[in-house]
Amino acid sequence: MPADINDILAAARRHCDEEIKPNVDRWNESGTWPRAASDKAGALGLTGLYAPEEFGGQGLPLGEGIRVYEELGKGDGAYAFALSMHNICTYAGCGFGTDAFKEKWGRELTSGRKLANFALTEPQSGSDAGNMYSRAVINEDGTWTISGAKAWVSLADEADIYFTVVKTTDQPGHKDMAMIAIPKDTPGLTFGPRYETPSYNFLPLSEMYMDNVVVSEENIILPVGQGLQGSLMAIDIARVSIASGCCGLMEAALDTALAYSQNRKMFKGVNLDLDGIQWMLGDVATDLEASRLLYRAAANALGTDEGPLMAAHAKRFVPDCAVKAANTCTQVLGGMGLLAPYGLDRLSRLSQMLRIVDGTTEISRVVIGRALQKRAEGLEPLPVPKGYGES
Ligand SMILES: Cc1cc2nc3c(=O)[nH]c(=O)nc-3n(C[C@H](O)[C@H](O)[C@H](O)COP(=O)(O)OP(=O)(O)OC[C@H]3O[C@@H](n4cnc5c(N)ncnc54)[C@H](O)[C@@H]3O)c2cc1C
Repeated sequence: MPADINDILAAARRHCDEEIKPNVDRWNESGTWPRAASDKAGALGLTGLYAPEEFGGQGLPLGEGIRVYEELGKGDGAYAFALSMHNICTYAGCGFGTDAFKEKWGRELTSGRKLANFALTEPQSGSDAGNMYSRAVINEDGTWTISGAKAWVSLADEADIYFTVVKTTDQPGHKDMAMIAIPKDTPGLTFGPRYETPSYNFLPLSEMYMDNVVVSEENIILPVGQGLQGSLMAIDIARVSIASGCCGLMEAALDTALAYSQNRKMFKGVNLDLDGIQWMLGDVATDLEASRLLYRAAANALGTDEGPLMAAHAKRFVPDCAVKAANTCTQVLGGMGLLAPYGLDRLSRLSQMLRIVDGTTEISRVVIGRALQKRAEGLEPLPVPKGYGES
């Protein structure tokens, strides 16, 4: 039987209160991934959310499991993001991987004993994902020899396996793309210096280099021709997961502002008595309600024809609301909002990061714009005055 989503959400809430919130500043100071915490997340069932039970997963539908990041995002959006990427890789590996891969890695990943991440971005191909150079040569014995460089790899040198998208010919386009999982200890796989980030320092990020890395065909997750399509599906799940985490972040910002302003004495009352303050926080509350409805609808649409567009709507709308919420709540605290102990500056930086990762806000607009063009094609054209239909 699949897990009960209410039990899993309660476990995520506990994990947030007991592990993330009390420790996140310390994690950031130390600049190291909190492996002990992610081990605990694994023991609570948070690292195999959508994977089938036969491999130790929770067997939750995407529409339910994605809500976990809202709970984790109340503690920290970067931690929620890293676990969301691990869960997507685990889902792909346990769903589309070879039998040998599932046997060897399935339970290791669902339990969180081993961590996974996704490597698509390259230095020259971020938003322009089709402009990829990393190249796999398929050898006669079935193994793949891979060379190239990935950029912005999260959990760099920390994850135990990297679900890597590669090209398999020199032809332009995406028809030859595939996804293969490269274990960290494979000879020829190395990582560049860590990126210096002003916040979320516990999340290791760097380039990843593949120098004639030889990988068994058992590790093919998406065969040749399905690499880009499958990655786009993974990215849709990731986009909705980000929106879910952003709702947690907004709630954390709102609660901080409310807790402070109900106590901040001014003008013979408290800050929260001021209409202007209530309106500012009221807008944050409305944005949060709308964001929740949108990401949950998008999560339920994943896997249907509506999935990509709904994911784009969620990724376009919700992180923008989160940036606005974090900044508004900072403003409500006045000068105090800028001080580290209140955590709002951290939330501002995190929300901006969440606008970029897994496809920027602008790329979501591109997806929405294309859908609108398609929709326009189905409409009876309206007449335009003479001269307006020519260019
Ligand atoms: C913290 C963090 C973690 C990440 N982790 C991973 C990971 O684990 N694995 C992975 O593969 N990738 C990861 N990424 C990469 C991330 O997905 C890319 O940063 C993102 O896709 C944007 O690519 P880019 O940074 O190269 O920006 P660019 O593609 O250079 O874009 C620059 C600007 O141009 C805008 N733009 C691009 N195209 C258009 C357009 N058509 N119209 C209008 N504006 C446009 C963009 O929105 C952006 O504002 C991570 C990124 C961050 C910040």
